Amino acid sequence: MNLTKDIKQYNKKYYETHKEQLLKTASQCVKCEACNCNIQKQWKNKHDKTKKHLENVEKMNTSTRKEEENINIKLSNLILEVEKIKQKLQNT
Ligand SMILES: [Zn+2]
Repeated sequence: MNLTKDIKQYNKKYYETHKEQLLKTASQCVKCEACNCNIQKQWKNKHDKTKKHLENVEKMNTSTRKEEENINIKLSNLILEVEKIKQKLQNT
């Protein structure tokens, strides 16, 4: 008996039988930006309360904050550069 083949066969059959339902369900998925995964709409509320999701949201917020900080540092460096150039131009 070829179990793998049987499972494949079963999956194929399952897919064919439930194709419409599966496609419908897939189209009802929403993307969770924090976890980078697709969740069925009906599970989204539940998902939003899971520890994993909350951790990912925290991670996402932290990295966004860090990025913002980096941009701010770069921006203030740029402003300093511009000021230096301005002064140079004024001096010449
Ligand atoms: Zn999530």
